[in-house]
Amino acid sequence: MSFQSLGLSDALLKAVSKKGYTTPSPIQEKAIPPILEGKDVLASAQTGTGKTAGFTLPMLQLLAKTPPQRRRPIRALVLTPTRELAAQVFDNVKEYSVFLDMKSTVIFGGVNQNPQVRTLRQGVDILIATPGRLLDLLNQGELSLSKVEFLVLDEADRMLDMGFVRDIKKVISLVPKKRQTLLFSATFSKDIKALASSMLNNPILVEATPENTTAEKVDQTTYRVDKSKKTELITKFIEEGNWNQVLVFTRTKHGANRLSQKLDKAGITSAAIHGNKTQNARTKALAGFKKGSIRVLVATDIAARGLDIPLLPHVINYELPNVPEDYVHRIGRTGRAGASGEAISLVGVDEMEYVRGIEKLLGERLPSSVVPGFEPTDTIEELKAQAAENKANHRRQPRSSRQGQGASKGASSSRSKNNQSRHRRKS
Ligand code: AMP
Repeated sequence: MSFQSLGLSDALLKAVSKKGYTTPSPIQEKAIPPILEGKDVLASAQTGTGKTAGFTLPMLQLLAKTPPQRRRPIRALVLTPTRELAAQVFDNVKEYSVFLDMKSTVIFGGVNQNPQVRTLRQGVDILIATPGRLLDLLNQGELSLSKVEFLVLDEADRMLDMGFVRDIKKVISLVPKKRQTLLFSATFSKDIKALASSMLNNPILVEATPENTTAEKVDQTTYRVDKSKKTELITKFIEEGNWNQVLVFTRTKHGANRLSQKLDKAGITSAAIHGNKTQNARTKALAGFKKGSIRVLVATDIAARGLDIPLLPHVINYELPNVPEDYVHRIGRTGRAGASGEAISLVGVDEMEYVRGIEKLLGERLPSSVVPGFEPTDTIEELKAQAAENKANHRRQPRSSRQGQGASKGASSSRSKNNQSRHRRKS
C-alpha cells in the first residue's frame, strides 16, 4: 500500500515524502480513506502509530478544496488533553501543510495568552487547543467556532480521565451541527462510547492495533524487588547496560522528583516531567532527552502521554500503574515503528495485584525474574505496618512542617478526584 493509493493530493504526497515516510502505517491506511469520503471516524490508536498524520492528512486535503477566505475563520479544531500533545500535533500540521495555503496555530494554558490571541486575530484555518485555554479565550470573545467544519478529539480517553468531559460538551455545543467529527482514543471505555455516540454521526470504526496486542513487539520483564532497593536496581540496569534515552514511570509527581534527584546524584543525568512542572521546564527536559544530554526522563502517566519520542529503546516502570491500561500506554512508548524495545517493571510485593490486572488485560503472563543481590524480602504485613506507622507519624507532625513532603499513597493516586480537577486546571 502506498500513500498515492490512499487518494492523497500531490501537495500532501510531497509533504509526506519530505518527512521521509514511504508507506502508510496501519491506522493511516484505515483512517484516511473514510475521512476523505467525509465520514465521521471513531479510531482506536495510541501515540506512536502515526495517528496524527492519519487524521491530519485527509483533513488538510478536504480543507484545501475550498480556497482560503479573506478573514480565515477557524475551519478545523483539534482538541488534545495536554500542552505537549497540542504542540506536537501543531508541529505535524505545519509540516504536512507546508505545500498548502493553510494557516494553523496552537493554544494551551500555562503560558501568556497574548501572543496566542494576536495570532488568532490574524485568522487561522486550523486551531489545535487544550480545552481549558480554548474555553478561556471563547469566554473572552477572542475566537469563534461557528465556522468549524472539522472537529477532532485526540486522545479522547485521556481527556475524560483528566476531567474534561464538561469542557468537551461545551465545545460541542459551540460548533456547527453540520461538521465532520473524528475521535481518536487508545481505549474504548463505556464513557468513550457514550461520548462517541453523542458527538459522532454514523461513524466508521477504525482499529489499527487492538489495545491488548500493542505489547507484541516489546520485550517485557518484571523484576521482583523490595521498594527500598528499586533505585539501586534501576541504576545498575542503566549503568551496566550503558542505556541512554530511558523513560522511567513513577506513580506520583513526588516520586518522579525524588527518583530524578537520586539518579542525578548517582551520576545519571535525568529530569522529571509532570503536571507541576512549568511548560518551559517540560519543553526543556524533553528537548534535552531527545538530543541526549538527559539520559533518563522520569515521568508520571499523564505527563508522558502524547510525548513524541520516536524509537525509545527502554521503558522502566519504577512502580506499576494501578490502572492496567496505563501499563499498555507506558510500554507503547517503546518498540515503535518496527523496532523492538524493552520494558522492565520493578515490582514490590505490594504491587502483585497490579501485575495480575495487567496480565488479565494482556491475556498473557508477564515473565518474572529476580536479580542476584536484589532478592525481595519485604512481606505485605511489614509494608502495611510501615505504612500505618508513617501515617501516624505524619498525623503527629504539625501541619506547617508537613509542607513539601511526599504525598501519602492514597492522596497521590493519579486517579483521585482531587487530582483530576487539579490536572484539569493545569492543562
Ligand atoms: P503519532 O502516532 O502520530 O504520534 O506518530 C508517531 C511517529 O511516527 C511520529 O514521529 C511520526 O512522525 C511518525 N510517522 C507517522 N507516520 C509515519 C509513516 N507512515 N512512516 C514512518 N513514520 C511515520
